[in-house]
Amino acid sequence: MRTRFYTHPVCREHLTPPGHPERPDRLRAIVDRLDDEPFAYLERLEAPLGDEATILYAHPQHHLDKVKMSIPEDGMARIDEDTTVSPKSFEAALLAIGGANAAVDDVFSGEAGNVFVAGRPPGHHAEKDRAMGFCLFNNAAIAARHAQRKHGAERVAIVDWDVHHGNGTQDIFWDDPTVLYCSTHQMPLYPGTGARDETGVGNIVNAPLPPGAGSEAFREALNALVLPALDRFSPDLIIISAGFDAHWRDPLAELNFQTEDFDWATGVLMEKADRLSQGRLVSLLEGGYDLEGLSASVAAHVGRLMKG
Ligand SMILES: [Zn+2]
Repeated sequence: MRTRFYTHPVCREHLTPPGHPERPDRLRAIVDRLDDEPFAYLERLEAPLGDEATILYAHPQHHLDKVKMSIPEDGMARIDEDTTVSPKSFEAALLAIGGANAAVDDVFSGEAGNVFVAGRPPGHHAEKDRAMGFCLFNNAAIAARHAQRKHGAERVAIVDWDVHHGNGTQDIFWDDPTVLYCSTHQMPLYPGTGARDETGVGNIVNAPLPPGAGSEAFREALNALVLPALDRFSPDLIIISAGFDAHWRDPLAELNFQTEDFDWATGVLMEKADRLSQGRLVSLLEGGYDLEGLSASVAAHVGRLMKG
């Protein structure tokens, strides 16, 4: 089964201030890397514009309105200390959402075996009614709901290996037993949530790791906590909130993962998807701020996805 890759040039037109880590060059680095020969058979598609109504799967109308109203006609506007919007930000967000929802459609229709979506802005910090941490809308949460509403998925699992805890995804599904949220992340670190005892209605599995934890601790957390939770939950779809900022080169954190860790983690989640979810696996870009660490990690991730 083929691996699909969605992105869109307008996702690079969501602008952030000079020196901001979440910048358009991130997508340029990824697209350039995936142009290399090993990816000749990767099926590249432009992300379609998402349906605005699907934002309401995860956020109330007033949040959607507030983000739309915040978009400036020119220049940049600030939503919080580190979250900004520019004239194309709403369109970029709709493309990130459209790519995520299309990826879900693809794995349910059998058009693709698995899919990686490189959109911006990222999503996992966006809470029900709050944009924060570079995120406006929660792409993974919307895609999970889209799988439930459009494709009749009963249970969806989101595995988040971004170095930061996905407080937004946890917030949205806190009391929803139909969605399992599993996260490995550095603690202490922004946004401060993600302790082991934050368990929702038994559907939240947090595996915080101390600074400097490294590869072995990551693999142990997946093996001991995340994979058994997936077995118990038996999801119809696995979504990866794929941040690559736990890479040792990344400037924002200190988990010190190696590039190969993302190959390994992709492989073990593919095995789970094959056994539990008819292979359905959708991966959405979250963080990753060192361009070399990011592009090498994405290459490892997508290379493994393509091995089927
Ligand atoms: Zn992050």
